[in-house]
Amino acid sequence: MLLIPCPHCGERNEIEFACGGQAHLERPGPQADATRWARYLYYRANPNGTQRERWFHAAGCRRWFNVERDTASHEIRTAYPMGEAPAP
Ligand SMILES: [Zn+2]
Repeated sequence: MLLIPCPHCGERNEIEFACGGQAHLERPGPQADATRWARYLYYRANPNGTQRERWFHAAGCRRWFNVERDTASHEIRTAYPMGEAPAP
């Protein structure tokens, strides 16, 4: 069981959340070529280590937030609201 620290509700069981994938992706502009759009839509990093992800608290506050998590150990290092930078 994974305990996820929602920045609005506190630590809760992972079954209350939905993962939204990699965080901090930059959406290409309307004039970007197809290759850039394909990278934005279909390519994701798959690190064996630290990754920043978007999570949705579906059974709680129903807000999106970001989590910095180690993909190998599942340790959650920090959670922070959307639009904010992670603590150093
Ligand atoms: Zn919440």
